[in-house]
Amino acid sequence: MFLAHLPAGYLLARGLLALPGASSLPLTQQRRLLITGLIASVLPDFDYLYFELATNHSISHRAFPSHWPPSWLLIFFLVAVLACVLRQREWHGCNLFLLAGVQLHFMLDTIAGPIRWLAPFDHTRFTLFHVPRQPGWWVWSYANHFSGWLEVAFIATALWLAWHTCRQHRHPVFVSNRIHSKE
Ligand SMILES: [Zn+2]
Repeated sequence: MFLAHLPAGYLLARGLLALPGASSLPLTQQRRLLITGLIASVLPDFDYLYFELATNHSISHRAFPSHWPPSWLLIFFLVAVLACVLRQREWHGCNLFLLAGVQLHFMLDTIAGPIRWLAPFDHTRFTLFHVPRQPGWWVWSYANHFSGWLEVAFIATALWLAWHTCRQHRHPVFVSNRIHSKE
């Protein structure tokens, strides 16, 4: 998946913020969680910079530890322990949104590209669908495949939700009625 990571991350973060425990949080905290979720949804792909600048392109950036789901489980665990030790209760929410966002990223990557879900213990590459290569620009192979239409669906749904929220509350993207009345 290429373009839909951010829109899908937005939809996931909005869904999590609608849960009973989260929807009653102060607006500033909801905003922080949403931003964390958005960043997390694209964060693993920042390893592409390293791939471009520091490697000879012999292995895919999806082979890097930053694209191993267990790496982020470890980070989640370490941050959770640190938050407990330092008594930073607010970190737990951001930590959870970070984990949810990056794992969603890997689920979406798995639809049409290989992800090593068990690395470093097992380097089997998991992919749900093989995208047949078509002649011409490689993007056309994805545009004509189910995964391309899924990307369009994520983008359209996220745009609709953001537009709908803005229209309802005349406020950027994430304000609920209840929260708005508190501020
Ligand atoms: Zn990725």
